Amino acid sequence: MTTFAAAPSASATKPASGRIFNFSAGPGCLPDEVLQQIREDVWNIGGSGIGILEHSHRGKVFDKVLAEAFDDFRKISNLPKNYHVLFLTGGATAQNYMVPANLKPQDQTADYITTGYWAEKSLEQAKFYGTVSEIATSKDKNHSYIPAESACKYNSNAAYVHYCSNNTIYGTEWHDVVNGQNTWNQRIPQAPAGVPIVCDMSSDIYSRPVDFTKFGLVYAGAQKNLGAAGTTVVVIRDDLATKKARELPLMLQYNTFAKDESRPNTPPVGAIYICGLVFKWILKHGTANRHCLDVLQELNIRKAGHVYAAIDGSKGFFKGHAEPNARSMMNLTFRCPTPELDDKFCKDAGTAGFDGLKGHRATGGMRASMYNAMPEAGCKALAQFMAEFARKNG
Ligand code: PMP
Repeated sequence: MTTFAAAPSASATKPASGRIFNFSAGPGCLPDEVLQQIREDVWNIGGSGIGILEHSHRGKVFDKVLAEAFDDFRKISNLPKNYHVLFLTGGATAQNYMVPANLKPQDQTADYITTGYWAEKSLEQAKFYGTVSEIATSKDKNHSYIPAESACKYNSNAAYVHYCSNNTIYGTEWHDVVNGQNTWNQRIPQAPAGVPIVCDMSSDIYSRPVDFTKFGLVYAGAQKNLGAAGTTVVVIRDDLATKKARELPLMLQYNTFAKDESRPNTPPVGAIYICGLVFKWILKHGTANRHCLDVLQELNIRKAGHVYAAIDGSKGFFKGHAEPNARSMMNLTFRCPTPELDDKFCKDAGTAGFDGLKGHRATGGMRASMYNAMPEAGCKALAQFMAEFARKNG
């Protein structure tokens, strides 16, 4: 696991490394060892005498970077051959139109479950391509929960079901809840047979085990758990990559990228290169008898546990936004008793060496984003800071 050379404590000033704990929702923090490698490779990658950002996207050096990125991504999830991995641009937001444009004929509906801001955006944009159905929503309680399976009124003739597995702004996540207990494992909507599931996994991809064979298409902006802003990873099943819901320009078709290793034109070489480093870092968490994503999941549950314990143990000083069984492992949303105390919390946290904690305007309060690269030491230090803040200001 990555640790900071000198981790700031609850009352720390900036450590000698000059780096502080970054709880930003995205772009989020990157692993230290990845950042160190980038420093070298931007100057001169692999002894080539040329930095990674200056190499031709059709040259040998980038060929290797790209091939390894594809291979390592597939290794992490044991992705079967009938799925393509694509590195696209335009952010996760561009998938809001690419998905319906490619997969949904004008007069065939697609089912959308809206559990937050980004899922609502996806629904809104899909309307440009004709009929859509909002089959369940958590809007009635300001997106503080995930609708039960029985609330999802699927259309058996839908082109796909779209949902967002982790709601970055509201701090809720789809989990399997068994006998009232949160397993922290992925819950996937039970779409009717033959209806592909499309998931926006931008803010929780590879934070826990994932079985892509349950999905038709998954997309994730890289800037949280996979790397740096500039590329969006799409995992798409063969039959959907070639589906032609309508005539489209080449650069809007998934198949253009599937056929040409994601480089029909100059791809975002820097962002793909960084994803490649992060994929290797993820793989390194695996041991002889444990899969890397099992290890990361356990770590992420523990990390989130420190901060949720600080919320629950504050005798009502902190209030979480998400219902307990829908709590996100990645984005933890909470507030103080007053907006004035929220402001003071963020200010004092800044002085103590924590950044990026101000919540989104939709929820107010605070949000601690704790992606894979956030070390456990950062989560513990934040929890300790929260306990002290509640004691002093409660
Ligand atoms: N979906 C989710 C779940 C997100 O968190 C975000 C960004 N925060 C987006 C989509 C939009 O991503 P991008 O900025 O890469 O378009």
